[in-house]
Amino acid sequence: RELSKQLGVSLVTVVKAYQKLEHDGFITSVQGKGTFIRKTKIEEAEKKEGTLLYDWQLSVQDYLPRSQFARFHQVPEKIHLSSNMIDPGLLPNRYLVQEIHRMFSEDPKVLSQYGEIQGDRALRQAMVEYLQRMDVPTSPDNILVTSGSQQGIDLVARTFVGPGDVVVMEAPTYPGAIDVFRGRGATILTVPVDSDGMRIELLQNLCDKYKPKIIYTVPTFHNPTGAVMSLKRRRQILELARSIQCLVIEDDPCSEIYFEKKPPASMKSLDQDGHVIYLKGLSKILAPGCRIGILAASGSIFKRLLAAKANTDLGSPLLTQKAIIPFITSKRMMDHLKKLRTALKIRRDLVLEILSQQSPEEVSWFIPKGGLNVWLTLPSWINTDHLLIEAKKEQITFLPGSACYPTEQENHHLRLSFSYMNEQQLTQGVTTICNLLQSAIAL
Ligand code: PMP
Repeated sequence: RELSKQLGVSLVTVVKAYQKLEHDGFITSVQGKGTFIRKTKIEEAEKKEGTLLYDWQLSVQDYLPRSQFARFHQVPEKIHLSSNMIDPGLLPNRYLVQEIHRMFSEDPKVLSQYGEIQGDRALRQAMVEYLQRMDVPTSPDNILVTSGSQQGIDLVARTFVGPGDVVVMEAPTYPGAIDVFRGRGATILTVPVDSDGMRIELLQNLCDKYKPKIIYTVPTFHNPTGAVMSLKRRRQILELARSIQCLVIEDDPCSEIYFEKKPPASMKSLDQDGHVIYLKGLSKILAPGCRIGILAASGSIFKRLLAAKANTDLGSPLLTQKAIIPFITSKRMMDHLKKLRTALKIRRDLVLEILSQQSPEEVSWFIPKGGLNVWLTLPSWINTDHLLIEAKKEQITFLPGSACYPTEQENHHLRLSFSYMNEQQLTQGVTTICNLLQSAIAL
């Protein structure tokens, strides 16, 4: 009807045109998504790319909005409990800016050269020493500097995952990783998370049945739940990976941000046969604007990832790599982390206190022992996508749980980040969310 109006032709002509397109194989319908006109015939596309590829292209479009959740902080809302970035006031910006100035005056050529594709050697050496203090063993030759850990996930996916390959993820999980694996056309299977991390007995079943290529996990201060995977489960996952010869991505954005005792040993340190690809982003502890992370892996796996990095961007920018070296290698880094832990613990405690005093009794959470987020579970009939609309009217954002599920979505959770807003903003934001929850539950 719309088309017939727009084109000024009769409805019968439009219907006939659609029937002809359908007959000729230019139309396809996907349940729950709608009807689409293709530029090439279905059979031709399938012959060329395989059926999965076609489904995959649709789902990429479908899932693009998911990564947009991460952009909430760019909308004009006042209180961003959706963003698990760090409050800029808690990061050493001034020092890094001075370092960049110093570098320009002493070594202006820094902009007129390519660095090593693998990353600046001095930074790789600095990261080896930094990681050693966290008991993550590696060497400069096994480190690849990436543009944030997001690029690390992408490099692994584009190197080892093709359409139809099985990838196991936690449910819920980090939305940015879901987008990457979806974008590769992976078949994503999920394993629920409890306070000890991935439910190992369920993972075992999936591995026996489907032989995944990759297990993606955030074992320490899991995003979004804050869970810490137990040492026992870390070992069990590695055993499983060894038995089915699959790779494990250990994504570790913030294991430094612990509020009680240090978290268990990294999976990388427990890995004896090179199944773990370890990712350490520096965005949550140092400077997201530098876009620096590292990937640590070994053997032929490392070589293939290095080739992928070369194909992608010929190496990360030298300027920001060099700018952070003096900070990381000095005592300042450890002092800064201590201060960051103290400041974030105060904010976490504040949020937990408001929640325990003001949220309805139907709402539950477990206490995150580190990291940046509190994950709330509401009664199953409350949809946090809808609650978000109400929160935005109050100029407040949170991350609705639906963004964090690769397959069957659960809509009755939400993630509150306590890392980006100051104490006054947290008080106002969390109090308002508690009031909204009271009203939603009372309905
Ligand atoms: N992994 C996880 C678990 C994250 O939470 C994030 C950022 N929110 C990233 C990867 C990407 O971080 P970056 O690329 O800035 O290092």
